[in-house]
Amino acid sequence: MKRDRCGELRRSAVGQRVTLAGWVHRIRDLGSITFVDLRDSSGVVQVVLRRGEEGHRLSREDVILVCGEVRPREAPNPQLPTGEVEVVAERLTVLAQAKPLPFSVEEDEVQASEETRLRYRFLDLRRPRLQRALRLRHKTCLAIREYLDRAGFIEVETPMLTRSTPEGARDFLVPSRLNRGTFYALPQSPQLFKQILVTAGVERYFQLVRCFRDEDLRADRQPEFTQLDIELAFLEDPEELLALLEGLVAHVFRQTIGVNLPTPFPRISYDQAMLRYGSDKPDLRFGLEIRDVGDLFRGAGFRVFEEILARGGVVRALSVPGWSEKSRAEVGKIEEKAKELGLAGLAWIKWGEEISSSLGKFVGERVIRQVLERVQAQVGDLVLLTAGPEGTVAPALGELRKRLAHEAGRVPSDAWALAWIVDFPLFKRSEGGTLESEHHPFTSPKDEDLDRLETDPLRVRAKCYDLVMNGVELASGSIRIHRRDLQERIFQLLGIGPAEAERRFGFFLRALEYGAPPHGGIAFGLDRWVMMMAGEPSIREVIAFPKTATGTCPLTGAPAEVDEAQLRELGIRLER
Ligand code: ASP
Repeated sequence: MKRDRCGELRRSAVGQRVTLAGWVHRIRDLGSITFVDLRDSSGVVQVVLRRGEEGHRLSREDVILVCGEVRPREAPNPQLPTGEVEVVAERLTVLAQAKPLPFSVEEDEVQASEETRLRYRFLDLRRPRLQRALRLRHKTCLAIREYLDRAGFIEVETPMLTRSTPEGARDFLVPSRLNRGTFYALPQSPQLFKQILVTAGVERYFQLVRCFRDEDLRADRQPEFTQLDIELAFLEDPEELLALLEGLVAHVFRQTIGVNLPTPFPRISYDQAMLRYGSDKPDLRFGLEIRDVGDLFRGAGFRVFEEILARGGVVRALSVPGWSEKSRAEVGKIEEKAKELGLAGLAWIKWGEEISSSLGKFVGERVIRQVLERVQAQVGDLVLLTAGPEGTVAPALGELRKRLAHEAGRVPSDAWALAWIVDFPLFKRSEGGTLESEHHPFTSPKDEDLDRLETDPLRVRAKCYDLVMNGVELASGSIRIHRRDLQERIFQLLGIGPAEAERRFGFFLRALEYGAPPHGGIAFGLDRWVMMMAGEPSIREVIAFPKTATGTCPLTGAPAEVDEAQLRELGIRLER
């Protein structure tokens, strides 16, 4: 259909005859004359129907074809790019009618429930906000491909029907009809395939790829999501990759939302991140850094802290700027919050016209001044202190830090704070007491920690790096193990013996025996990245057809029951 674009008409088009096709966005029926805002993907323009009866038959979201002449608008609308003109219809054809709408698609904010929005996603997606999000997503992918192509990467697809690739979630399984009783797993990530690809001589690989993880859906997770997956051969020093990725992220920001990010991004060790921000995904848009002040309280006279220190606990503090005037009741409220987060309680120091503290009765002024100095407090600040086991205090105080920063209005909404978190531990203890990979089992330990792999595994650090942005993990990657013997040692520590390793990962271990170059890579969560650049609160707003929090698709009704005959073919009988 040859047509002009609604959103592109400007004053220069006045006098031209145009053909427009689109959706009836809004109707103002004045009886003998009707104004229609006509919308296509380029935008909206006003169409004038001078024969009243034509306007009476139209409803919102009907699809119409209009031929007519462009003329200057009597009352221009400065809000609209096409606001200086209108099209006087000479011919109108209704191409398709729309039923009454379950919700308005006109506004950026809809009142409908998520269930209804997703059920009528074909309408929901017509909203300008979602159209913008899809376009931004497209531009992001384009910029990624452009940059990586220029850097010598090639995009290679890897199978969706495959074997399990452990990334810490359950697999989605697909039964095989041709090989009854066996199952494919949908990939949790292309991890093993990308490692095999670099081993196969694809020295620079990337893929915008769908991954599947069957998890109990926590807020803002999707059972399928998109990753930018990258792998490079001959990578020994992460720094080589980090610089390239900083270039990539900066390129994408520039090309899509016109933001110039300063590079390089800071590098922060995992230990420092946990100490200073109580999180391995620190939000660096604001200060309120946490400091260890335990040494200042040893022998200082405050029994509560001293006992905790004697039991191996920690004392930590942070300073909230401008809050020295908080009343006792207000500080009490903060303490309640702290307790909800798992902290035992809070002590405080207020630095107003004078210095006062809940610790004043127990410790000398010198200690209080030392604390103020340690947290780099200034006049006007409220300093909060807490003590307990490190494993509780660090994350809880980290969470409190974030909440207080938001409450104190110290989180700039237009800032982009990126940083690399490095030197993660290789393992963590599972709830059952066994060792688990902090990232995944293919991550290389640091060379200098190899000696203590079996003797002190929890102190072994990994060659891995996460990219965080505004307190969110944007990407995660590592240098990989490229030798079979080391990979087997790691499997052993994870409780995967030789027989099981052979059964589950034999194909991969074999690849490591035929000349695997040193290699490493990373994966970015694409949905989250686009969500943040779009300023959206949820990844569902930047995915065309997302699932609900319980993993269902209201549009198609998936997951759904299947015919008995299909099950029989697969050799499956359901337990009811
Ligand atoms: N496979 C990892 C993930 O999906 C990323 C990586 O290590 O490259 O999280």
